[in-house]
Amino acid sequence: MAYDIVVIGGGLFGAGIARDAAGRGLSVCLFEQEDFGAGATSRGSRLVTGGLNALETLDFTRVREDIREREILRRTAPHLVQPQPCLIPFYGQGVLAQTRLRAGLALTDALGFDQSLPVHQALSASEARARAPGLRAEGLTGAALVWEAAVPRIERLALEIALDARRHGAQLRTHTRVEMLCWEREPRGRARVVGVRWQDRLTGEEGRTETGLVVAAAGAWQSGLDASLEGRPRLVKSVSLVGPPLPGRGDALVFPREEEGRLLVVTPWPQASWVGSIETDFVGDLDTAHATGKEVAALVRLVRDFLPDAAWDDPALALAAVRAPLPPHAVSFGVAAPTYDIRDPGANGGVQDGLVTVSGSRVTGVRAVSEEVVDLACRKLGRALSTPPCRTASAPLPAPAGPTLDAPVLDDAALRAAVEWAVAEEECRTLRDFLERRALPVRIVDRGRSAIVVEAMADLLGWDSDRRAREVKAYEADQALTQAFRVL
Ligand SMILES: Cc1cc2nc3c(=O)[nH]c(=O)nc-3n(C[C@H](O)[C@H](O)[C@H](O)COP(=O)(O)OP(=O)(O)OC[C@H]3O[C@@H](n4cnc5c(N)ncnc54)[C@H](O)[C@@H]3O)c2cc1C
Repeated sequence: MAYDIVVIGGGLFGAGIARDAAGRGLSVCLFEQEDFGAGATSRGSRLVTGGLNALETLDFTRVREDIREREILRRTAPHLVQPQPCLIPFYGQGVLAQTRLRAGLALTDALGFDQSLPVHQALSASEARARAPGLRAEGLTGAALVWEAAVPRIERLALEIALDARRHGAQLRTHTRVEMLCWEREPRGRARVVGVRWQDRLTGEEGRTETGLVVAAAGAWQSGLDASLEGRPRLVKSVSLVGPPLPGRGDALVFPREEEGRLLVVTPWPQASWVGSIETDFVGDLDTAHATGKEVAALVRLVRDFLPDAAWDDPALALAAVRAPLPPHAVSFGVAAPTYDIRDPGANGGVQDGLVTVSGSRVTGVRAVSEEVVDLACRKLGRALSTPPCRTASAPLPAPAGPTLDAPVLDDAALRAAVEWAVAEEECRTLRDFLERRALPVRIVDRGRSAIVVEAMADLLGWDSDRRAREVKAYEADQALTQAFRVL
């Protein structure tokens, strides 16, 4: 057998599982059809929420777990995970709703007795507007200031987790799609997954990799992997916008939308802000999902209700992420709302073995879910859990040693050096890999610099003029999806 575990999907969940498994001495191969973090992972709010989750569910067992996991992330990846003040303005909610909100926050503070972030603070309306001057004054009765964490460069979190898996011996294969699972028949009508067939989408190379266990963490693509997986589940499209930075202290703004049981969130991004999200049912091609003009207009109306003067009429981009909502019977930290779902079809006399599937809906729980999946994998592979034990709760995630792209003015030589590093050390294989996930600020601020990146990558990777043109076209096509709302 070539590997103990094959992981399908290089989002936060797949990367987290590969890192944990490799750190415990299992041999691992991670397949990602595009690039690390290119799926739903890079299209969310970038908040690592603990206490805020209580506002959605009042599920305090989960809140306690989330606070613990948020602390672990902050401690082990401080270069990527930062404290984030979040302002929850009160607008005309009834006394009952406000009391419930305040009680939830007080209880959350109590549950986070050992956390490093400050407890929540009650603010008057004028204090709230001093922190966030754009807030609608009319109807504002006060606010709560809550401390959470944020990962402004979440694509890098997925990437650096995958690179740490590589450091522990995992094999990483990006731009390589698993085309099918390979089954072997066993006695008594049982069948076992013994490998995967894959194709490298850049080189066309094809192959088969043998394994003791496949862990599928393929997000919205999961059910398309194999006929044995449930029929295509309901898919939803989350639409969010990236626009100008908000004036004020850099707080994230959180507006509970009671009628929908969801939060509207505006979070600071590097030189920008993100607002999301609204959800609609999705049917269509997962690789070209985009927001429509109607969806963007609906989201802009929602934001304008709270931020009347903000320049959201012309957002810089609109992002669409497709997700499969978790089934109601999913396992969860608590009881009220599932945040992840681990399935082992071979358990309890099931006739299909060698496969575990995992889906999740929260960044916050990724490490704990990965630990649980690898515990299960060890049991299935007949390995002891403790040799060596899981160390992801304490082992630091190493910060990259290469050139930084965070300088306010990035000269051409520094940009070239960053490209060289990304290609040599960070599995960067396409123009989109670099511009969209290795160098987020370049995408937002400085699109004109892409020509320098193309030249540098062409030199390093030996691209001919056709390949160069294809790379630019692929990047432009992806940019066009973020702008499709202007015409569709
Ligand atoms: C709008 C929005 C807001 C969010 N807000 C929050 C929040 O505030 N707080 C929070 O904690 N979480 C939030 N989330 C959730 C969080 O971002 C996601 O749940 C999480 O990142 C999903 O990670 P994943 O690895 O399961 O999926 P993905 O990131 O989608 O990863 C799946 C990967 O599998 C790959 N893949 C699929 N099929 C194959 C194949 N056959 N072969 C190889 N690779 C394959 C895909 O290319 C993809 O990269 C939000 C999500 C969205 C969309």
